[in-house]
Amino acid sequence: MATIVFTIANQKGGVGKTTTAVNLAAALAELAIPVLLVDLDPQANATSSLGIEKHEGKSLYGPLRGEGSALDLVTQTAVPNLSLIPSEEDLAAAEIEIAQMENFLLKLKGVLEPIRASGSYRVVIIDCPPALGMLSMNSLAAADFLLITLQCEYMALEGLGQILRNVERLKSAGINSSLELGGIVMTMYDGRTNLSRQVVDEVRQHLPEKIFETVIPRTVRLSEAPSFGQTIFAYDATNPGAAAYRRLAGEVVRRFGLQ
Ligand code: ATP
Ligand code: MG
Repeated sequence: MATIVFTIANQKGGVGKTTTAVNLAAALAELAIPVLLVDLDPQANATSSLGIEKHEGKSLYGPLRGEGSALDLVTQTAVPNLSLIPSEEDLAAAEIEIAQMENFLLKLKGVLEPIRASGSYRVVIIDCPPALGMLSMNSLAAADFLLITLQCEYMALEGLGQILRNVERLKSAGINSSLELGGIVMTMYDGRTNLSRQVVDEVRQHLPEKIFETVIPRTVRLSEAPSFGQTIFAYDATNPGAAAYRRLAGEVVRRFGLQ
């Protein structure tokens, strides 16, 4: 089973990266697709959103510095078909340490090699921290596709150029020549405001083939679910947010030929 690695990155904070990583992963898992979510953010929000406790030593920090295998960190979640490589604060030190290593951009790619080789996962989703530092850049070097979440807010597109220029640089430098922008997910859409609609229209005009048709609505239930350690499907399966992430998963399946 060939594995497709997606990274969800955007240097802007609070734009729905983790919410999308967790609930898209869970929605794909619901479709019987074996998914591995990789929490690459020292904040470990994806880890706690799935109700998994943070433990010192249980992150990719070790493997990134050459200690232990990523395979040994894989944890089964409460969601069938969804596994997790958790995170914890120590991973923050990797930002600095990796920068001093040889081939520093390719560390994560190497660490994920046994995961790809295992053939156990059809999809790997990496949840990145809100910075284009060493961890995010490593995820871009390791991924097949970049997924960008944009909040339907004023200045949403600010910073988009920067991340896309980084993609081009990694490609032209031969660090990841096959990396592609896989899609743009618009999050926290508020149908009552003109602003939300304008932002979506603007992105549609700029990147018509990249924007996903599904727009994720702003709903309180999506923001409550993580504090219960649950996906939106476990917390409130009838919520419009759950329906939206299911539709997004359907689009991802079709766009990337996952079934
Ligand atoms: P960071 O950059 O800190 O990692 P992030 O990009 O991962 O943030 P999230 O943590 O997913 O963003 O979302 C930021 C906040 O907005 C969180 O409190 C989350 O619960 C909330 N949120 C995300 N999506 C929605 C939504 N569709 N409706 C309502 N609240 C949302
Ligand atoms: Mg996050």
